[in-house]
Amino acid sequence: MERELREQMVSCGASYYQRGYSVGSAGNLSLRLPDGHILATPTNSCLGSLQAERLSKVTMAGEQVTGDRMSKEIAFHLAIYRQRPDCNAIVHLHSTYLTALSCLDGLDPENIIRPFTPYYVMKVGKMPLLPYFKPGSIRIAETLAQHAHEANAFLLANHGPVVLGTSLTEAVNAMDELEETAKLMFLLKDSNVRYLTEAEVSELRP
Ligand SMILES: [Zn+2]
Repeated sequence: MERELREQMVSCGASYYQRGYSVGSAGNLSLRLPDGHILATPTNSCLGSLQAERLSKVTMAGEQVTGDRMSKEIAFHLAIYRQRPDCNAIVHLHSTYLTALSCLDGLDPENIIRPFTPYYVMKVGKMPLLPYFKPGSIRIAETLAQHAHEANAFLLANHGPVVLGTSLTEAVNAMDELEETAKLMFLLKDSNVRYLTEAEVSELRP
């Protein structure tokens, strides 16, 4: 089981890198292992060339167990896992369109994306905006822990998205949908968009 999950993380990382969702050493993936530990992409690792046996394995308290040294961003992954027992995987990227969106002023902090496609509503629901803190700051973990129960996707201001899933596949699919939706927002920026009505949105919610 752990073997397969390690391989799955490697292939998801490669897919993000090949599709241009991650450049250099930006972004990190994590998942909850059957033994209760967290498996995560190591510090300064390129998502395009992860190695299954070198992934960081850490305890819920943040102690390194095996693998290469963990990223400092894993602190906020752990903060979410502690609050959300239903969350088994987290994807954090600095992907182009969502990061561009995170740099805009005047966003609705409750839900950044006003629904205009059903897929965003079905796969993501809503995405709150969380305030900017410098990379690695403990305030990122504290803020995510505080809001963890409000949504399955968050946008860190001037930084990038954090997406939760019950599995890595679910988190990856939701992240893909979000990045695509953000891209459409920029494509439609100067257009007269027909947003979904309240009734259309509520019939999509489970
Ligand atoms: Zn980051």
